[in-house]
Amino acid sequence: MYMLITSLGGKDLVIEENINKIKKNLSKDVTLVAVSKTKPIEDIEIAYKAGQRDFGENKVQELIEKEEILEKDIRWHFIGSLQTNKVKYLVGKVYLIHSLSSIKLLKKIESEFSKEGFIANLLIQINIGKEENKSGIFEEELDALINEIELCNNCKVRGLMAIIPKGNDTENRYYFKKMKYIYDTLSKKSYKNISMEILSMGMTNDYKIAIEEGSNLIRIGEGIFGKRNILGGLTNG
Ligand SMILES: *Cc1c(COP(=O)(O)O)cnc(C)c1O
Repeated sequence: MYMLITSLGGKDLVIEENINKIKKNLSKDVTLVAVSKTKPIEDIEIAYKAGQRDFGENKVQELIEKEEILEKDIRWHFIGSLQTNKVKYLVGKVYLIHSLSSIKLLKKIESEFSKEGFIANLLIQINIGKEENKSGIFEEELDALINEIELCNNCKVRGLMAIIPKGNDTENRYYFKKMKYIYDTLSKKSYKNISMEILSMGMTNDYKIAIEEGSNLIRIGEGIFGKRNILGGLTNG
């Protein structure tokens, strides 16, 4: 269980300590994305000074505002649900979109990114718990989406992402295993524009189990920056 370090003084120290603590036990092939949604520029700068380069945001507006101000070698990950009318704002700003979740969205990304001559790097978000209030496609819809991805010129799928249902360790592990199975199955096939390099799963409270089950990208918000206010909660779109 993660515990916020509060006894060591300033915010700088807390954020830096949190990052170092997480990284200490992380193998080289696991990427840590610091989820900075709702958090101010200063917090991101502190994390940056501590060596952090991958940051995650779930609102397009917030991502582009922060991108504008902050260092250019930051890799911005878009992890929220993405509306088609906002895709154009991400062109040239985003390193990886974790939330490809429909054919309609794929087509919009393809058209907006090709207009500007950019390649979009994407993860397919899978609604692995089949929860009504969460975005992501069902496993059963994968084939249809894959067919469309193969027709693209400017979209490259690099892996999969999931936000699993709330649950205990055993339940979490069950969903992570399911994701790993889909990831491995797709890895063995050869599709145009699709390679399985990134399995994005695990957050503050379950990232250790996620890694045990094969995650190689974890998305940590509160475990680095501390509690968010209620408005900045998980967006399930
Ligand atoms: C907010 C968010 C996270 C981080 O959650 P924490 O519990 O703060 O670590 C990870 N992934 C997504 C998609 C999120 O929206």
